[in-house]
Amino acid sequence: MIPTITLKKGKEASLYRKHPWVFSGAIATDCTSLEDGQLVTVKSWNGKFLALGHFQHGSIAVRVISFSEVDLNQEFWNTRIADMVQLREKLVLLSATNSIFRICHGEGDELPGLVIDYYTGVAVIQCHSIGMIQHLDEITEALRLSLGEDLLAVYHKSAETLPKRHAITDGYLYGEVPTPHYAKEDGITYAIDWINGQKTGFFIDQRDNRTMVGKLSHGKKVLNAFCYSGGFSLQALKNNASVVYSLDSSQKAIALVEQNVQLNAMEDRHISVAADAMEFMKELPEEFDIIILDPPAFAKHLDKKHKAVQGYKRLNAHALRQIKSGGILVTFSCSQVVDKSLFNHTIISAAIESNRKVKILYQLHQPADHPIGAFHPEGEYLKGLVVYVE
Ligand code: SAH
Repeated sequence: MIPTITLKKGKEASLYRKHPWVFSGAIATDCTSLEDGQLVTVKSWNGKFLALGHFQHGSIAVRVISFSEVDLNQEFWNTRIADMVQLREKLVLLSATNSIFRICHGEGDELPGLVIDYYTGVAVIQCHSIGMIQHLDEITEALRLSLGEDLLAVYHKSAETLPKRHAITDGYLYGEVPTPHYAKEDGITYAIDWINGQKTGFFIDQRDNRTMVGKLSHGKKVLNAFCYSGGFSLQALKNNASVVYSLDSSQKAIALVEQNVQLNAMEDRHISVAADAMEFMKELPEEFDIIILDPPAFAKHLDKKHKAVQGYKRLNAHALRQIKSGGILVTFSCSQVVDKSLFNHTIISAAIESNRKVKILYQLHQPADHPIGAFHPEGEYLKGLVVYVE
């Protein structure tokens, strides 16, 4: 029996608009006896079916899996995964030059809590809600069906994304492929290690932005701060940058960049630095033509928004103050709570503070395999600005 959650009168509107979250404040039913991850039916105050979703104690109490009364059987997962794979086929993400893309982007693909990334034959599943864990077998089977020979292995990695008390064990759900495993993005080869790397092993969301920044890099001195495995650095090197500095505070990340630079035989113009970016940016060793700032989310919750904005402002002010005249700052925020307009204002106030005249050349965001649900604007998490500094 699937338990029913009844909403307070008037709280059904967002579900009619197909927004995939039910906040705890909207619920009339006493949920204390429900367990995290339990499948629930959501009904309006007058008993109308609204949605089927995963319950979790917290501010977002239900994550909607379906707005119609369906069985979450194998066929359901086959259809949903097939739809997602077909969309990626339309986007031509699997080709001779590219074998890295995201198959499922949570709410953006109408499956809140589920991320699936693909690296030349290997699908890495990362769950952000306890509810998703119970469907892993069906999801794996559906991936095998949709991807056929393009699938060699499925690895599950949720121990770091779900609360420790659930004691999740990571591991292969199908096949096994040793790491590092090689995959391509825009013609560049990367060593991917989903077991020891951050997230699923690679930051796929910067693919289009890396290609774009690469095109600006010819003959330029580039600083790639918060580089992780070096995507921006490799694009700049491929496009004949004169020198590229890759900076990250993680020694492991620096080892990854160096491995990737070597894999692509680009060592001659590359310098790697293991340091805290905020400290390093205070006094740069050279004048750079291009500075890339792609920090981790400074604010994961609304209560940290103010501090996050101050952090972005300070970091960008250091870059703006020292960048070469006629240089280009490429700056990002992946904090969901700092929206596009707030981020723009923050960068503009950093420019005012550093007394530099700037022009916004491009406004960047996440790529098409990280879609934004039309009814879930919160899904637009990656914001970037390409700023010309006179
Ligand atoms: N630009 C990267 C992704 C960046 S993820 C890419 O294209 O793949 C953010 C990175 O910032 C992580 O690698 C993390 O190790 C690093 N980081 C976090 N805090 C830092 C700090 N204070 N100084 C330098 N790097 C930091």
